Amino acid sequence: MNRYDVVVIGGGPAGVAAADAADKQGASVFLIEREARLGGILKQCIHDGFGLIRFKEKLSGPEYVERYIDMLKETKVEYVTLTFVCDIQKIDEKYILSLVNRKGISQIEAKTIVLATGCRERTAKQVFIQGTRPAGVFTAGTAQYHVNILGKMPAKKCVILGSGDIGLIMARRLTLEGAEVEGVYEIKPSPSGLTRNIAQCLNDYDIPLYLSHTVTRVFGEDRLEAVEVAKVDEKMCPIKGTERVIKCDALILSVGLIPENEVADSLDIPLDWRTKGAIVDQTLMTMRDGIFSCGNALHVNDLVDYVSEGAEIAGENAALYSQKKRALIDIEIDNRFLYIVPQKIDINAPIDKIKVYFRSKDDLDDVNLSVYIDNRKFRTKRFSHLRPPEMESMLFNLANENLSEQSKIKFCIEDRK
Ligand SMILES: Cc1cc2nc3c(=O)[nH]c(=O)nc-3n(C[C@H](O)[C@H](O)[C@H](O)COP(=O)(O)OP(=O)(O)OC[C@H]3O[C@@H](n4cnc5c(N)ncnc54)[C@H](O)[C@@H]3O)c2cc1C
Repeated sequence: MNRYDVVVIGGGPAGVAAADAADKQGASVFLIEREARLGGILKQCIHDGFGLIRFKEKLSGPEYVERYIDMLKETKVEYVTLTFVCDIQKIDEKYILSLVNRKGISQIEAKTIVLATGCRERTAKQVFIQGTRPAGVFTAGTAQYHVNILGKMPAKKCVILGSGDIGLIMARRLTLEGAEVEGVYEIKPSPSGLTRNIAQCLNDYDIPLYLSHTVTRVFGEDRLEAVEVAKVDEKMCPIKGTERVIKCDALILSVGLIPENEVADSLDIPLDWRTKGAIVDQTLMTMRDGIFSCGNALHVNDLVDYVSEGAEIAGENAALYSQKKRALIDIEIDNRFLYIVPQKIDINAPIDKIKVYFRSKDDLDDVNLSVYIDNRKFRTKRFSHLRPPEMESMLFNLANENLSEQSKIKFCIEDRK
């Protein structure tokens, strides 16, 4: 059985960056990808806008990830594709992974594992749409795969439910390819996607966005023929009398992404109910020693540049892992946060460069993010806007603080006025 210091599961942008970072620390690294090619979901994201932070350039998804794959090919990292991790067992201080591929089942041994398994899209079943089950109801990612990879049009006239970024990008893509996008319907009173995508994908193409609206029914036997949309009240319940039937042959769903954590579940790794990803400390180690998590498997990132940044932290720490006992402090947050990652700080690990990523629950203007240590204000950072679709981050140094396991760290979002 081959033995590695670090085994990375998932060959998307997170997995590739984590493997690269672990190799730079001198670890022996093995990367496993279930699809035929490395690159993850970015293989089908042929629009531009990737890499503005990382490379200060506007790249397409494949161009962005290719740069990392090229770097990986210069390293000693071994990788396999068309291989699926189906089981992980902990035996003494090591992990035994069972892999399945066309050659059959094999096993490898790992000192540490980095989970970089990405996310999946919410489906029609998870948003409870009434009616028949005709063909023509796609998630935005499936529609993107049809258009960009298979070269096939999934719709002539469609309605998009949800204003997540992938739905917005598909509204533009389908319009450019000749389909009619009747409108984007969002149940919440504000859009879920980035402001730049609302401007560039909807406004520039005169595609209407209907806020506080949802799809209540679908019609059609073999193929979708129409959908019913309605306004919703402040409790997101459809308002009687506002229903409208729209003839169309496709309903595209962009109703959220969920971190893919089946492998984490099989290891009983505690998950955060807010992010649906693993609970981690600042080294991105989960609550199981030696198992790290990064990318969209950890929390759904808005920009791939942040995915690469976090993955490098996970890969580097996996390579440097020692079995030193952890001393963990919870990071508490007030109720204006949607979530924060990491959720814990290990005071036995380096605490001089802690990077937290967070989202606010609501749209907020002119606020301070304040960090309190034992009720004393330690640091404040001003934000002119916080928007739930836009992830924010903050870097801080706790090395000069006299922290113990009893210390309390709390993050608060405070109005400036
Ligand atoms: C449809 C879709 C479109 C998107 N479009 C954009 C966009 O336009 N711009 C943007 O910034 N972000 C976009 N995102 C977000 C995007 O997911 C991230 O930016 C980035 O791709 C996340 O990288 P990742 O490596 O964490 O996940 P992924 O890119 O999803 O990679 C995860 C990889 O893990 C592999 N894997 C999973 N489980 C296993 C297993 N058990 N064994 C082996 N391999 C496994 C998968 O096959 C996959 O290749 C999109 C996401 C989706 C779902």
